[in-house]
Amino acid sequence: MNLLEKTLEYIFLPSCGVCGKLGEGYLCKKCGKELNKYAICSKAYLQFKEKSKNEIYIKDNIDRLHIFQYKELIRKLIIQYKFNNKSYLYKTFCEFIVKNKKAFDFIKSYDIIIPVPMHNKKRALRGYNQSELIAKELAKKAKIKMFTDVLVKTKNNRVQSSLNKEERKNNVKDVYDLVNKEKIYSKKILIFDDIYTTGATIEACKKEILKADIKQLGILTLAKD
Ligand SMILES: [Zn+2]
Repeated sequence: MNLLEKTLEYIFLPSCGVCGKLGEGYLCKKCGKELNKYAICSKAYLQFKEKSKNEIYIKDNIDRLHIFQYKELIRKLIIQYKFNNKSYLYKTFCEFIVKNKKAFDFIKSYDIIIPVPMHNKKRALRGYNQSELIAKELAKKAKIKMFTDVLVKTKNNRVQSSLNKEERKNNVKDVYDLVNKEKIYSKKILIFDDIYTTGATIEACKKEILKADIKQLGILTLAKD
């Protein structure tokens, strides 16, 4: 190994995104246990299984899976991820999701994952779309596709977190557009967003996606507020 290789290995050695520990991937065992305290995905998944088993599952009912409860440590990490330039945390979140069999099986049952889009201007300002980073990594691990050219954001609206429930609903009205809808024809589509609060964003995206003739629609969010 030459000096360059050694340096590269040192720089790119994965460390735990929560505590910085080296040698245990992007999420160390200890922090994995800590994150697990906030995991609600198992519960939601069971509800979804239960529903289909009892055949009260109806066609336009949508399977939802939230990975974490949005509070304490999770809240802190997501805020750092979105606003403090800690984009590398997507690897930590994905490592947790992939290791959670129920969550990962849920993702693998879809053909395509579509992250909630961000307006180009905002994306340029932040440098990344936090939902897209996670969706891309999950798609890679689950061997499904990620499309960012089907659902687009046409208006640069206000940030949802500063608004109340009614304002949120109006704020996301007509800001998303479905394009290239033939790309998702007859496919199982999973919409991904980071935080689920009132559901206004997801509802607006869902409305657009359902304009295409798809086979199934699911919702995945990193955390539920
Ligand atoms: Zn750790």
